[in-house]
Amino acid sequence: MTVTDTLALRIEKLGDWDDVSPNFTQDELFSPDTIGKVFLIDYEALLKLNRFRGHVGYPLLVNHGGNHLRGVRSAKEQMGLVKKGLTSALSSLHLQGKAFDLTCPNKSTKWLKDAALEFAWSCVGYYPNSNFVHVDMRSTELTGIQTYYEVT
Ligand SMILES: [Zn+2]
Repeated sequence: MTVTDTLALRIEKLGDWDDVSPNFTQDELFSPDTIGKVFLIDYEALLKLNRFRGHVGYPLLVNHGGNHLRGVRSAKEQMGLVKKGLTSALSSLHLQGKAFDLTCPNKSTKWLKDAALEFAWSCVGYYPNSNFVHVDMRSTELTGIQTYYEVT
C-alpha cells in the first residue's frame, strides 16, 4: 500500500437503500436541511439500527418530537441546538451519521434504554424526563467498554 492509496477517498455503493435499511426511510434519518447536500451515514450504524428495530419488535421513531431528535444532523442544526441550550457539544456523532435518538411509541423510555443496553450499542444515553434514548457507535476499540449516561 502506498501513501496515495491511504489518502484516496473511496466511495462504494453498498446496496440499495431499501435493502440496507428496510425499517427506516432517508427522511426519517436525515435532517431536513441536509436535502440537496452530501451527508454520510455510517454503514455499520445503519445496519445496527435496522437490526435493533427487529430486536425490539416495535416501531421506532427517529426525527420525532422536535429538532433534537435526529439521526444525521447538519452542522447548522447542531449549532442551533447549542444556542438553545439543548446540547453543549459542538461536535456530535449525529454529525457523523453514527448516532440516533429513538422513541418507541409502544414502550416507556426506560424499557427502550434497557433494550438498547442489552443490544450492546457502544453508547446509550438515557433521559428519564424525555421521550427518547440516544444510541451511538462511538469507538470502543481502546476500552471495549460500553458507555452509558443518564441525564436528569
Ligand atoms: Zn443523540
